[in-house]
Amino acid sequence: MLNEADITFEPALDSKGEEHQVTHGTFIGYLQSDDRTLRKNAFNSLYSSYYAQKNTLAAVYNAAVKRDVVTSRLRNHKTAQEAALFAYNILTSVYSELIAAVRKHLPLMHRYISLRKKLLGVDTLYMYDLYTPIVENTFGHIEYDEAKANVLQAVQPLGEDYVKTITSALEKEKWVDIYENKGKRSGAYSWGAYGCHPFVSINFNYNVDSMFTLAHEMGHAMHSNYTWSNQPVVYGDYTIFVAEVASTVNEALLMEYLLSVTADESRRKYLLNYYMEQFRGTLFRQTMFAEFELITHEMSERGEPLTFDSLCEVYMKLNRDYYGSDIELNREISWEWARIPHFYTPFYVYQYATGYSAAIALSQRILKENGAGDYINFLKSGSSKYSIDLLKGAGVDMSSPKPVENAMKVFENILEEMEKLV
Ligand SMILES: [Zn+2]
Repeated sequence: MLNEADITFEPALDSKGEEHQVTHGTFIGYLQSDDRTLRKNAFNSLYSSYYAQKNTLAAVYNAAVKRDVVTSRLRNHKTAQEAALFAYNILTSVYSELIAAVRKHLPLMHRYISLRKKLLGVDTLYMYDLYTPIVENTFGHIEYDEAKANVLQAVQPLGEDYVKTITSALEKEKWVDIYENKGKRSGAYSWGAYGCHPFVSINFNYNVDSMFTLAHEMGHAMHSNYTWSNQPVVYGDYTIFVAEVASTVNEALLMEYLLSVTADESRRKYLLNYYMEQFRGTLFRQTMFAEFELITHEMSERGEPLTFDSLCEVYMKLNRDYYGSDIELNREISWEWARIPHFYTPFYVYQYATGYSAAIALSQRILKENGAGDYINFLKSGSSKYSIDLLKGAGVDMSSPKPVENAMKVFENILEEMEKLV
């Protein structure tokens, strides 16, 4: 209630002196703006409101962590982390392997930060400079039909059956509600019920982002469709651990397809930047979050107090490790933890990072090693086996560091191409 309802933010001024309302919904948009004054003011506005509630927020988080620790002990688990992963039969080693493998590749993230600093042409790169695009978008207006045609081309490597079904879904059966409309929910999602085909809702905005959103949501929809057509209702759902794999594989295939047909240098740069931002936001950032949760729970298990200051100290150190020395860490970023609602669902966000790595590894396997057949079988499997075993069947072993290593190789290649282009 404090975060969703009671907290308020001062409006932020842009470089022309105009006021902008800061809300949870508008904040990231301002950070992506090319108006640096607006970025800075929105950043300061948001974080000063959290600072004003600092002891309350720390006490609430401390209580949530204690709840996790106490309930895990009541059920005879060794740690809160083990308890959280137990339900999905995921070993804690999967979690620690992820952190270790990402940490090993932090120098790549530091290189990306240096490149960002260079391209933005700033003397000092601040935390509010992290989200704004570093290259110009020269794609212009993209019609839905063009986006759809690209998605259909991109999924060709998945084979005849996938292509036939998704083409019929988009052309004939009209699974997708495409445009913004009065009273329509914002964002994008795939939904439906066993026994019927899924439906997809997007708010198509005529840009690259919308094209990837279409690929993403159709990934979820096709996963549901394959599962519902092949599993009894009891196995007709799937866990979060595998859900984002199906959507991200489609995004990765779309990216690889667009890169293969885009020769124009400025467009290539935009795509590469888009890809690198995905890696930063999903693989690096979510792993940093995962590490934060692990540290705070271990502190609590040792009986160490979680206060505003001790939490900020942990968080600041992680930011330093992950982003390197080419960025000036604004003091405010040390209490970013206070505004992340996911921290109240313990040991959850690591799945974004594992899912992303698995998806990148799978897309490479589909494109280079004929992995489409195994992948389609995975889509058909729903929740008939544990997630780790389902992914193993598709050709990625998440109990080894290999998928993360492979994903990092892809990131390194993009980074190298980008460094050469600019
Ligand atoms: Zn999704």
